[in-house]
Amino acid sequence: MIRQVGDTVIQPVHRARCHCGAVVLELALPDGIVDPRRCDCSICRRKGAVVASVPLPDLTMVQGREVLTRYTFNTHTAQHFFCSVCGIYTHHRRRSNPQEYGYNVGCLDGVDPFLIADVPVSDGIRHPADRMDATP
Ligand SMILES: [Zn+2]
Repeated sequence: MIRQVGDTVIQPVHRARCHCGAVVLELALPDGIVDPRRCDCSICRRKGAVVASVPLPDLTMVQGREVLTRYTFNTHTAQHFFCSVCGIYTHHRRRSNPQEYGYNVGCLDGVDPFLIADVPVSDGIRHPADRMDATP
């Protein structure tokens, strides 16, 4: 877990916003940024964002619900949300754990995700949900 990025201390409730500011979220992050990662699945490789997760109740929309757009594909389990004004991905409901949201670490107020060292890349090409039958 990460409690500070550069000069920015992660607050117990930290705000996140899209680029234009229309969409504002509040994230409960009592343990800071937990398990930040990138992913090489077909959508993440295009957006390139560093993502971390919170339980569903720990993400609150403060404003912008009316401009938030939802995108789904393939199994339509994951729901990807982005601002329809500026196009920035803010969060998504995870496919591998639908009880969690992934969120864009770069949207956190004051956080430069490039200052987080050694962000691992998840194997999204062979998605965990596709591997359930393959593992003994
Ligand atoms: Zn926006």
